[in-house]
Amino acid sequence: MNANVTHMRAKLARLAAMLYHRRLLDTAGGNISARVGDVLCLSPAYSGSLRQWQLEPEDVLVVDLESASILEGSGKLSRESNVHFRLHREFGSYGTAVIHAHAQNIMVFAAMAKSMPPVLEANLKFGEAKVVEYAPAHTTQLAENIVNAIRGQEERIQKQAAGVIAPWHGLFLMGKDLDAAFDAVERFDMNARCILMAQSFLGTSDMLAAQRTALAEGVARFKKA
Ligand SMILES: [Zn+2]
Repeated sequence: MNANVTHMRAKLARLAAMLYHRRLLDTAGGNISARVGDVLCLSPAYSGSLRQWQLEPEDVLVVDLESASILEGSGKLSRESNVHFRLHREFGSYGTAVIHAHAQNIMVFAAMAKSMPPVLEANLKFGEAKVVEYAPAHTTQLAENIVNAIRGQEERIQKQAAGVIAPWHGLFLMGKDLDAAFDAVERFDMNARCILMAQSFLGTSDMLAAQRTALAEGVARFKKA
């Protein structure tokens, strides 16, 4: 096996455990993939429910991107791998990693089927995380809806990542590479946390509209200077 693939399997296993400990992945679901050339390194089915995200590098599947056949790894393809294949095939020239996460703060936005505006400087580059049209989990229609919502955000993937919210389900995000995607999942979740905390402290329900205007004005002032 190619040394880059071996390295990526180990890295994916390590980052998966970190995402889980940071409550960015949960036991019920989520999946991670990273492309190395023509193959995908992909978390196997039941990584959460049966392995609690404690994957060994050899648990990480190596899958041919074109045929979706498993080349290495003993597990099975997750039913959500549809989305991964579609995203890598469609936007592969912009990014190499996909994370689907049930991140704890983003889940509130998913539960309420609400898009999330950026309220932190570190999130401005992602724009608004839009809610995609509903389709049940694991369907090809859900994969299609996610691809459609990410289309047009290719520049964001190239820069770092583009993410969308599947209603009543979770976050789907494609990043430039696995490090960028990991970082972006955490930034999306932190942004969600800031909105939720501010709303419960201040009783506001406008997604920090005034604060977002102030942020935009602050950024614009420095752009002019
Ligand atoms: Zn899921």
